[in-house]
Amino acid sequence: CGIVGYAGRSAAAPVLIESLKKLEYRGYDSAGITVLGSGIETYKAVGKIVNLESELPKNLGGTVGIGHTRWATHGRPNTVNAHPHNSGEKPEKISIVHNGIIENYMALKERLIGEGYKFKSETDTEVIAHLLHKHIYGKPDGKEAQCELLVGLREALKEIEGSYALGILSADEPGKLVLARKDSPLVIGIGKGENFAGSDVTAFLNHTRDVIFVNDFETAVLSPAGVEIFDRDGNLTENKIEKIEWDF
Ligand code: GLU
Repeated sequence: CGIVGYAGRSAAAPVLIESLKKLEYRGYDSAGITVLGSGIETYKAVGKIVNLESELPKNLGGTVGIGHTRWATHGRPNTVNAHPHNSGEKPEKISIVHNGIIENYMALKERLIGEGYKFKSETDTEVIAHLLHKHIYGKPDGKEAQCELLVGLREALKEIEGSYALGILSADEPGKLVLARKDSPLVIGIGKGENFAGSDVTAFLNHTRDVIFVNDFETAVLSPAGVEIFDRDGNLTENKIEKIEWDF
């Protein structure tokens, strides 16, 4: 029910956990994070965020990451169904968090299973991970990217019906957090040498008040150095930064 993201120079995990706690008021049944360290490192837990915290190793590396609090719509609330959902066989290539509902997930799932993808969860979300992987790597054990993450994402999104706010990491594009949105809230926080993402501004308001609201059909790339936002055709748009003046 909430997504968060971080691309910066500090360890991502503590920032993600802090942001997830700010979004607790939205309600959730489980939580998880992925950080990009030497590869994709995913941790999940049912129940409160403190349960997730107790799963994390001390001094978890990685300065880019995504996090999620889940309010189950498809599949029971359990650890396997908790986000992030990953794709790629040893090593995993893609990790995603998702808020919303993928309406045509059944048809996509059947097709992807036919193409050799193995599903671990009962969620609608997992189809996005494998569909995106398919567009980039061609097959479940594909090792070489055939296009950039952002290009593969744009193609994958054309096949998806429903609502989404997405946070995405690729093992082959370290230092990058990619976002996409349709009919689910998503906002970016602009810091100095670090940038943030959240379902709402409370996720990162203690770090920055300079924000960009992502519009439907836009995709975004966050790195420590900056933020780029693209329209549905992949054209770079002008960043409209707003200042949050109000307090809680
Ligand atoms: N439909 C997804 C699921 O059931 C996402 C739910 C959410 O927005 O938390 O896992």
